[in-house]
Parts: sequence; C-alpha cells; structure tokens
Amino acid sequence: MVRLTKRRLSDSQVVQRLWNAIEVIRNQKQIANLDRITKFMSRLHSMHPKDTNRQLGLAVKDGLIVETLTVGCKGSKAGIEQEGYWLPGDEIDWNVESHDWYCMECHIAGEILTCDSCFRVYHPKCLPDEFRPQDSSSHWQCQVCKSMKKKNTTKQAMGRYLGYIVSRMKERASELGKKGKESKHPMYRRLVHTPIDVASIQEKLNENKYRSFDEFKSDAQLLLHNTILFYGADSDQAEVARALFKDTCHELAELQLCKNCFYLSNSRPENWFCYPCVPNHELVWARMKGFGFWPAKVMQRQDNQVDVRFFGHHHQRLWFEALR
Ligand SMILES: [Zn+2]
Ligand SMILES: [Zn+2]
Ligand SMILES: [Zn+2]
Repeated sequence: MVRLTKRRLSDSQVVQRLWNAIEVIRNQKQIANLDRITKFMSRLHSMHPKDTNRQLGLAVKDGLIVETLTVGCKGSKAGIEQEGYWLPGDEIDWNVESHDWYCMECHIAGEILTCDSCFRVYHPKCLPDEFRPQDSSSHWQCQVCKSMKKKNTTKQAMGRYLGYIVSRMKERASELGKKGKESKHPMYRRLVHTPIDVASIQEKLNENKYRSFDEFKSDAQLLLHNTILFYGADSDQAEVARALFKDTCHELAELQLCKNCFYLSNSRPENWFCYPCVPNHELVWARMKGFGFWPAKVMQRQDNQVDVRFFGHHHQRLWFEALR
C-alpha cells in the first residue's frame, strides 16, 4: 500500500533549541513552563512567542517533548503542582519507528511517502516524476531500492571503482570533526534514524555489500541528511557534508560515463590516457581559445555540445559546440 503519512511535524532545529531551553531552565532548578521557554526562545533565538507555542505543541505531538506535572520547590509556587515540559527518554521502540522521520531529499518533516523495502521517506513533491507512485493501491519502493534490482556491474568491480571515491570521501570527512562524538548526544537518535559515517561506508565496501551505485550514492546522501538534521542546514558541518555529497555525485557520474577512463585516471599506469576504452571514444580535433587544434577524446555529447578531454599534458576537459 502506498502510504502518505505524517510521521513528524515539528522542525528538527527548533526542537533542539527547545530541548536546550528546557535543559537550561531545569538546570536552574526551575520548572520549564511555557512562559520560561517562550522567554528563552525569544531572548536567544528571537523567536516569536506564537511560533514557540506552535512548535512546542508540534514537538509534543511528535513525542519529542513531554508534558509533565511537577511540584515547584522554589519561590512563591513552592509545593504547588505546575505544568511543565521535559525531554523524552532515550529509549526508542525501533519496531514502531521502522522509517526515518524526515524527507531524504529536503530533510524536512511533513506528509511523506514511506518506502516498502527500506527506512527512507520522501515528500511526493521532492521525487522526480518517474519515481512517484503511479496509483494508490500498489506497493511503492524508493529509487534506491529500485536501483538494486538492475544488475550491471559485479560487486567486485564496483568495490574497486568505489574504493577511489571512498578514499576521497575520507579526506573530506576529516573536516567533519570528531567522528562519532555527536552520536553520544542523548537525543541524537531522536533525530537521526539511521546513523552512518565514512568508516562504515568503507566497511560496507570492504565486505562487498553495495548492490548498486545508487545505493552507494544514497549512503553519501544519508550522511548529508543526518548532518543537516543534527547540526542544521546552515552549519559548517552541513557545508562539508554537502561538498562531500556533491563530489561523490560528480565522481559517480564520471564513473558511469566511462568505467575504463575512471579506472585509468585513478590508477594512472604509464600513458594511461592512450589506452583504448570499451566502447572506444570518438576522437576529434578541438580548439581552445588562443590555441591551435589539438586531438581529444569525446566523453559525451548533448545536442550540439561535446564534452571532450584533450591528449597532452594536463588532459583538460571542456565543453565545445560542435562545428558542422
Ligand atoms: Zn522533501
Ligand atoms: Zn527504499
Ligand atoms: Zn574511456
């Protein structure tokens, strides 16, 4: 069954601010009531009381904040029962929480489609047309799960190619900071459904577990997804994860353009650029502004545009308009 469900409604960043507000207020031995939380949010985050009230309500509905009755121990209300808010426990029933809570593409909560075969969820509007469910009665699988059915490269060959991409991911990921540190945060798993890091991607690759290039790409996307959910879309960490995902997509596109070129340009045997690929590249003469015509390989064509890579020292890559 294609299910459009609302798993969560609150904003993941606001929820973290609310948790922080509650903790700060509780640490002052005060009850985290609406009044104090609203003041905290407007002072620290310039959030309008109306918005705080609304997000607090949504977070309670989402089970990310719980309402409590506490007996005050300070001031004029000592001994009187008061309504307040508290963080949920860190125990999560993973049988119930079988799916992520936030769209894999835009990382926002709301009404989402859940994949029948994995934990991923998407807003219908965030999916390309061909991946949207065609009718409401059929099963629905996300594009990652669908990609695993297509067999085109052996797992061993895939491991060899992807190894080059993972080593570059590692260089980038070192900027992501103390690996695993954030996952120790008690509320981490309330926002991050399926944790992942570059080390676990490497491990999966070593064990030949990737079934498709899209599956590999989706892990890089998951890394970005989790980083945005925990650190926020504007954080430095998100910027690093975004660059990492972009690089990975670029490398995968190159790999799919010509596996031979990808392998040779990474392993670089002597005269690697002169090895013939299967299928052969078309050879052309192309001219960069200010230079004479020079031999080049055609990597791809789109309409009248040709993507070429030059023979010679630096193997420059350029798009040209083909002369007729
Ligand atoms: Zn979305
Ligand atoms: Zn899926
Ligand atoms: Zn090639």
